[in-house]
Amino acid sequence: MKHPITRLFIANRGEIAVRIVAACRKLGIEAVVGVSEADRHTLAAQLADRAICIGPAPAARSYLKLDAIVTAAKGTGCQAVHPGYGFLAENANFEALCVEHGLLFVGPPASAMSAMGDKLRARQTAKTLKVPVVPGTDHVDSPDTVRRFAGEIRYPFLLKASAGGGGRGMRIVRSANEIDGAFTSASAEARSAFHDPTLYMEHYIERARHVEVQVLGDEYGSIVHLGERDCSVQRRHQKLIEESPSPVVDPVLRARMADAALRLARHVRYVNAGTVEFILDLDSMAFYFLEMNTRIQVEHPVTEMVTGIDLVAEQIQIAGGAPLSISQDEVRFDGHAIECRINAEIPERDFMPSPGRIIEWEPPSEAGMRVDTHCYRGYVVPPFYDSMLAKVIVHGRDRSAAISRMAKALDSFKAEGVQSTLPFHRAVLAHPDFEDSRITTQWIEQDFCREVYGAHSP
Ligand code: ADP
Ligand code: ADP
Ligand code: MG
Repeated sequence: MKHPITRLFIANRGEIAVRIVAACRKLGIEAVVGVSEADRHTLAAQLADRAICIGPAPAARSYLKLDAIVTAAKGTGCQAVHPGYGFLAENANFEALCVEHGLLFVGPPASAMSAMGDKLRARQTAKTLKVPVVPGTDHVDSPDTVRRFAGEIRYPFLLKASAGGGGRGMRIVRSANEIDGAFTSASAEARSAFHDPTLYMEHYIERARHVEVQVLGDEYGSIVHLGERDCSVQRRHQKLIEESPSPVVDPVLRARMADAALRLARHVRYVNAGTVEFILDLDSMAFYFLEMNTRIQVEHPVTEMVTGIDLVAEQIQIAGGAPLSISQDEVRFDGHAIECRINAEIPERDFMPSPGRIIEWEPPSEAGMRVDTHCYRGYVVPPFYDSMLAKVIVHGRDRSAAISRMAKALDSFKAEGVQSTLPFHRAVLAHPDFEDSRITTQWIEQDFCREVYGAHSP
């Protein structure tokens, strides 16, 4: 490596902190994890070479404290910081602060991050590169402006936060009388979640699949794609199950999407791991650019399973100035992978979070199965953070083998003490619509939950 990394700071928690520790081990790098007071005894803290407290439980006072994290990273002698996903992963100020203090940031340069961080700016960039975007508007500053554009964009449309992420700050508008309410709630949510109430409109594609392309670039201008992931099993615009390859994408479409993703990434001189998200209209099979996530994603393991590439290790080596370990020709795709996100939530009660002590915990461990988790028997799931307990990832020679293996993995997964979405995932995997891939991004809410949870559905 050009800039040797012997010790790396993990500015995150949960399963991704554990995942980053594992990548450090493999690379012979020491791992220091920054923990909040509530996370002192987590698995990442136990597995890392060192854990250092960065503040109290609320994320705003610990995992989101730029200066506390940079001070901790410098104070513990780290040369690099891995931000994981969420928290500060897409915060250009955090990256700038790291760089200012001589820390390598495991992610793209601030310029690429800001070019893609704002969705309106990213849409503009896509347009100049002739990458299709969903018909939409620029910034809309009032319900009256929305009404003025409604005819042109056509109902239904989405009001989306330009700074949005994690499915937040987004509202569907199906008729004129919904405009005022949707505008108020979307901008309020965007203001509180992202400190930026800027909204824009985008036509809502009803029969859609979410398909995204993983890219990986180094600082010498090499950039490759690692195929696509289909993340159409969603609730409230948040992903629940992801797979690779997409069952609805053929080789010609795959090549076109990869080409569009690479053109965008090259244009912003993208370095490190990133994901270009598209929405695919099932009626026309046309795809449109949604956004680029300038970080590692939750669902990266499905790509690792089909390509055999360790994305987190690549990220760290790229940050250290190493060239990509593979060229496009060397990327091989083998079989099919599926991931289920297991959350501590109660589907029957509108997916209400269910924190508490885990009293039984036996994840599946057969060949072709992988579980990324920070949980263990006796772990207390704190109420302060997101509710993901584990990701179950399986690989099979084809989609149907992967589905069978996932069904087996979920069946043998013992988790007790907190309620989890394991039964929900078992039911989805057994559903003929999922098996035949006859689903859209609305399937969970419009069909599955109504059918399975009846009157209690969202
Ligand atoms: P992925 O495609 O990696 O699943 P998600 O949008 O689900 O991406 O986000 C991953 C995690 O990061 C989730 O915990 C989500 O709540 C969080 N997240 C994503 N974007 C933001 C953001 N802009 N601000 C705060 N949290 C975010
Ligand atoms: P976030 O930053 O919150 O991830 P995205 O723009 O990536 O926001 O959208 C999240 C999800 O919302 C998508 O995966 C898709 O299911 C849905 N969505 C977003 N835009 C559209 C659209 N124009 N038409 C249909 N669905 C959309
Ligand atoms: Mg997205």
